[in-house]
Amino acid sequence: MTRAVLTLNAGSSSLKVSLFPETGEAPLATGHADRIGPEGVLKLKDAADQPIPATGDLTTHAGAMAAVISGFRAHLPELDLIAIGHRVVHGGADRNAPETVTDSLLADLEKLSPFAPLHQPHNLAGIRAAMAAFPGVAQVACFDTAFHRNQPFVNDTFALPREMYAEGVRRYGFHGLSYDYITSDLTQTAPQLAEGRVVVAHLGNGASMCGITNGRSVSSTMGFSALDGLPMGTRCGQVDPGVLLYLMDQKGMTAAEITDLLYKKSGLLGLSGLSNDMRTLEAAGTPEAMQAIDYFTFRCQREVGAMAAALGGIDALVFCGGIGENSRLIRARICERLGWMGIEIDHSKNAANERVISTDFARTTVMVIPTNEELVIARAARAAVGLQ
Ligand code: ADP
Repeated sequence: MTRAVLTLNAGSSSLKVSLFPETGEAPLATGHADRIGPEGVLKLKDAADQPIPATGDLTTHAGAMAAVISGFRAHLPELDLIAIGHRVVHGGADRNAPETVTDSLLADLEKLSPFAPLHQPHNLAGIRAAMAAFPGVAQVACFDTAFHRNQPFVNDTFALPREMYAEGVRRYGFHGLSYDYITSDLTQTAPQLAEGRVVVAHLGNGASMCGITNGRSVSSTMGFSALDGLPMGTRCGQVDPGVLLYLMDQKGMTAAEITDLLYKKSGLLGLSGLSNDMRTLEAAGTPEAMQAIDYFTFRCQREVGAMAAALGGIDALVFCGGIGENSRLIRARICERLGWMGIEIDHSKNAANERVISTDFARTTVMVIPTNEELVIARAARAAVGLQ
C-alpha cells in the first residue's frame, strides 16, 4: 500500500497536482492539466521527472482530475489517498491557518468570492470536485492570505472610511504559502536569520514581497487583491487609483474591461509590448524590453526599502519564484543600488545560483531559496490526518 496525500491547485483552466508520501519532501508524482476545455492537455511525471502516460476527458476540471488520478493509479497501483490539500486564494480576515473543509467552511469561503473573483470560484470548484471524487477523504484548505493575517493595523488597512475595513476592504497580502515555506526553511537552516528581519521577494509571473520578523508577516506589497505592489508578468502592480477613475469617466471603460487591462494586459507585457516572460525580455534586448526590465527592477528596489522600513531594518533578503530563483541578471540589478542597506552580492556566487549570494563581509545576507508551496499544502494535509 502506498499511503499518500494529494495537493491540488485549481485555476480557471488549469489543475496542478502533486502526490506526496506520508513523510519526506520529494513528491511521488506530479501532474499539470492546462487549457482545460476542448483543447485540454495533461502531463504527468513520476518521482524521477519522467513522463507517466495519461489520457482522459480534459473538457472539465472533474474530468481532468479523474484523468490525473487514473494516471497516478496506473503508475502506483497500491495508491491509498489519505488526505487532499487545496490551495485557496482567500481565507478572509480571520483565518490564519489551514482548515479542514466542512460544508460551513465552503459556504463561508463562497462569500469571499467577490474579493477574488478570478481565483476563488475555481479553487472552490476544485474542492467540490475532490469531495465528490473522494468522499470520506479529509480535504484541507490552505489559504494564500493566512500567513499575513496578524499584520499590524497600519499595514492591514487603507485610509478609507472605517466601515470599509469592517466590510473586508483590507490589505490581505497573498503568496502566503510561499512565504510560509521560506520561513520554515530558514527556521531549519538559519535559525538566527529566521528570528531576525527578513525581506522575501517572491518574483514569478505573479510577484510580491513580504517583510517578516521572527516568522511573522509584518508587511506585504500585495493588498486587497493580487494586483497591488510590484509589476508582474501581465498585472500592473501599484497604480494611482486616479488612473482607474479616468478610464471609467473619460474613456467609458467597464469594470470587465478594466479588469482585463489590469490583470492581463499590463505589467511586463504591457510595458514591453512583447512578452510577459522575463526570459524572453532578457533575450530580446529591444529598448521597450529593457525599459520593462528597468521598471521591474526599480520597483523591486523601492519595495525592498519599503519592507525594510516596515521592519526597522534588514538582516536578510531572500529571492524565490521563477525569476528570483533563476535570473542572475534581475537579482544583480535589484541589488546594485542597495549597498546603503548593507546588500552586496558576490557576482560569481550569484552567477552560480548559490544559496547564499552575498559577499562574505556584507551586513545583510542575500539568499536564493527555491520555494515549495506544494510542500506547505502537503504538510497541512498530513497534519489534518494526524501525521507529523
Ligand atoms: P508563476 O507565478 O506562474 O508560478 P514562476 O514562478 O514559474 O511563475 O515564474 C515564471 C517567470 O520566471 C517567467 O517570467 C520566466 O521567464 C521567469 N524565469 C524562469 N527561468 C528564468 C531564467 N533562467 N531567467 C530569467 N527568468 C526566468
